[in-house]
Amino acid sequence: MKKCLNDPIFSIISQVGINENTPVFVIGGFVRDLLLKRPSKDIDIVALGSGIEIAKNVAKKLGPNVNVSVFKNFGTAMIKSGDYEIEFVGARKESYRQNSRKPIVENGTLEDDQNRRDFTINALAISLNKEDYGRLIDPFEGEKDLKNKVIKTPLDPDKTFSDDPLRMFRAIRFASQLNFNIEENTYNSIGENIDRINILSKERIIDELNKILLSPKPSIGLKALENSGLLREFFPELQILKGVDKKNGKMHKDNFYHTIEVVDNIRNKTEDLWLMWAALLHDIAKPKTKRYCKEVGWTFHGHEHMGAKMIPIIFKRLKLPLNEKMKYVQKLVQLHLRPIVLSQNIVTDSAIRRLLFDAGDEIDDLMQLCEADITSKNESTVQKYLNNFKIVREKLLEIEEKDTLRNFQPPISGELIIETFDIKPSKLVGDIKNAIKEAILEGEIHNDYNEAFNFMLKIANDYGLSPKK
Ligand code: ATP
Repeated sequence: MKKCLNDPIFSIISQVGINENTPVFVIGGFVRDLLLKRPSKDIDIVALGSGIEIAKNVAKKLGPNVNVSVFKNFGTAMIKSGDYEIEFVGARKESYRQNSRKPIVENGTLEDDQNRRDFTINALAISLNKEDYGRLIDPFEGEKDLKNKVIKTPLDPDKTFSDDPLRMFRAIRFASQLNFNIEENTYNSIGENIDRINILSKERIIDELNKILLSPKPSIGLKALENSGLLREFFPELQILKGVDKKNGKMHKDNFYHTIEVVDNIRNKTEDLWLMWAALLHDIAKPKTKRYCKEVGWTFHGHEHMGAKMIPIIFKRLKLPLNEKMKYVQKLVQLHLRPIVLSQNIVTDSAIRRLLFDAGDEIDDLMQLCEADITSKNESTVQKYLNNFKIVREKLLEIEEKDTLRNFQPPISGELIIETFDIKPSKLVGDIKNAIKEAILEGEIHNDYNEAFNFMLKIANDYGLSPKK
């Protein structure tokens, strides 16, 4: 283990510990990631004494420009050194109350500190002390669990999860990030402690969900959220996508499994969290719009419009940002069928213009979402759709070059209409503006000031208006 700690920062911390007569250890996620050979920039140091004093002395040794941020209330201190963020804390023992995930904290031993960790793989420590520098201290066989790819609580899972229910989400998040399995007792205990999540803030849950969405294969975490019962509790709209109805021998696909496949597909193309959210929510209104009709079987007419309406409600409840990120997700949900409809029909220039006009800068993300939305098991069907989308993409490029419709700004403003005809602001001004926009989208005129001005004169004439002298 010694040679893994070859960054000079560790020998500096070790030296300070020796000078201060305070044993120091690297602990938690950094050790886990070291053993997994995953890059990690966050180092946690636990001291059998004052973490804050150790931090101050380490900073002194590192030079005059190194600042220590001290969080007195938490008994922690943080230093930035090179790429590393190093957090120092005294070893602690924790006990919990029924109605809060905030523990009562007292000073403790290294063993106490390892006991309070969430999973065996997160309870590993490495000594930085003179007598056994580099020794791995692994009371719960965390190294074995790393090899076997297992997430397991160090102590009784019921107590671990009941004390701090966020750990249930963390278990699933690590399983998704590392592609590990959750040990059976640990997993079953999640099911037993579902109602404890009412002491969690939405923000903490969403932090974990976001980490699941950004993990290499989010469906692992999303499936576990669903199977364990957690999803039903905090995100019922997503949970009820699950299930298949059958009538007269006709069935529809399971929209939950379809959704998580779309999320995986899009994750292969992007790290954009909000595009992942759009994928997660694109079919969210399918249960509400589901109908059966004899002729065509199951339909979900209007699910894109109803879905778009549901987005602000869901974002508000889950304490997601109610800003342009929400509008972005809403727009993609609203438009997610448009390229599909286009690809199934003969692609006319005006339909492409309208799509460009409505999607604006989001057109590329929308096309990615639509391509990810193809989840047929039949390879030739997938290829057929992808080819159709390729044609749509080529057409989009062609029209965009010709007409620059992305983020369309009307070439004729309302003020100009008012001034040209010396009229008052009124509905008529809006009608003329709209007629100009329609003419551009239909391809009757180009997106050009002179053409639009002449068209305006013609339209206004139909309304009995003539330009002021
Ligand atoms: P990541 O950096 O990916 O979020 P991590 O485990 O490396 O994960 P932190 O979440 O900062 O980093 O946690 C650092 C360590 O603190 C963990 O490895 C674990 O030992 C401990 N820990 C964090 N949260 C909890 C918790 N809710 N319950 C018990 N131990 C925890």
